[in-house]
Amino acid sequence: MAAKNKKVGIVSLGCAKNLVDSEMILATFRDTDYEITSSPSEADIIIVNTCGFIEAAKKEAIETILEMAHYNNSKLVVTGCFVERNLDELKEEIPEVDLWIPINQYGELHTKIEKMLNDGTKLHKMDPLQRVVSTPDYCAYLRISEGCNNFCAFCAIPYIRGRFVSRPYEEILEEAKLLKEKGIKEISLISQDTTYYGRDFPDKKPNILDLLKALDEMGFYSIRLLYLYPDEISDELIDFIGKSRSIAHYFDIPIQCASDHLLKLMRRHGTAEGMKELFRKIKEKMPEAILRTTLISGFPGENLKDQKETIEFLNELKFDHLGVFAYSREEGTLAYNYPHQVRESTKERRRAEIMELQRHISYRQNKTRIGLEMEGLVTGYDKTRDLYTLRSYWNAPDDIDGNIYFKSKRTLYLGDIVKIKITDAYIYDLIGEIVE
Ligand code: SF4
Repeated sequence: MAAKNKKVGIVSLGCAKNLVDSEMILATFRDTDYEITSSPSEADIIIVNTCGFIEAAKKEAIETILEMAHYNNSKLVVTGCFVERNLDELKEEIPEVDLWIPINQYGELHTKIEKMLNDGTKLHKMDPLQRVVSTPDYCAYLRISEGCNNFCAFCAIPYIRGRFVSRPYEEILEEAKLLKEKGIKEISLISQDTTYYGRDFPDKKPNILDLLKALDEMGFYSIRLLYLYPDEISDELIDFIGKSRSIAHYFDIPIQCASDHLLKLMRRHGTAEGMKELFRKIKEKMPEAILRTTLISGFPGENLKDQKETIEFLNELKFDHLGVFAYSREEGTLAYNYPHQVRESTKERRRAEIMELQRHISYRQNKTRIGLEMEGLVTGYDKTRDLYTLRSYWNAPDDIDGNIYFKSKRTLYLGDIVKIKITDAYIYDLIGEIVE
């Protein structure tokens, strides 16, 4: 094959779902003269795949586009959620960009880029089964659906990504098989609403349980579910996870708030009491289960009573991992026009109050883990501190849950599976030593 003499680079912003799109975009360049580079100064074409979920993400997207526009010798293409939402404005404000491709035009992404390059390059169509997996070679994300049907009052996702569409069951299994053949040990299932999988199929089958059963049979070391909607989690699903071979006993269940008054305003299903029962049930069936959640502080209409109820809820449930975002007022969403918008300083104060509480909870929870043995994947090595990093069922990828650091006398390699004993605990991190 002739040497590749041109280079393409991509900057992927936002969540793992966007990363999967970026991986598919890179794969459109296979069999061409373009090789992939991580250095924008070398690239003949730079693609910025943006996120437009909240204000901070939009700011980051604009900064990145402007930064990449400095590389004058490259063509600049911008894709993703932010483009989907703000195409006209962006076109006007950033004329340096050569090509804008919103999500609804991904079907023609390859032809649009070919036309812009105008150098005879023939790209492939974006194909979910063809991705340049950019995560370390022992782990990958696996997307199981697109869009969302929930229309939570604060969220722009259904307007950006459209209604919920499950990926065909066979296609997911085929992709999982390809990942397994590549030597991937850990997969993380992603979606906007993982528990909803299959509900848009005739007879609502196959559903998430069927999918998990099939994936569990494939022999992955670990399968992690991300983004479960609280009131869609059935007893059957919990029981299956409990007895499965490879599904992590890790429950990522964003609750957003724990006051019935706010849940209604947010247009969330269920009640605070219902969510409490769910978490209690998971812990009863699987005392070792890790609970993670996400909250929004300062949603319009939020008052001191709501904050108090949420704090009481968190004190009682004691999540292992928790994230809080200050509410971001997104145009086009229901809550954008709500009265009683909360001041930025109040949002921030309430966010800080929850995080302060969580620091105490997290530290106390982590202390109880001292002496426990945990198995997981080696995911990093810091030469200066001679410390390895481990990912067990306790923590998800991308450092969202803190890290487990440990020492080992024998040399280990990324992706090795090892067992360690926890010897010390910090607020968000754990320390251990290898069990020989
Ligand atoms: S379930 Fe999640 S993605 Fe869907 S509308 Fe609600 S917050 Fe947005």
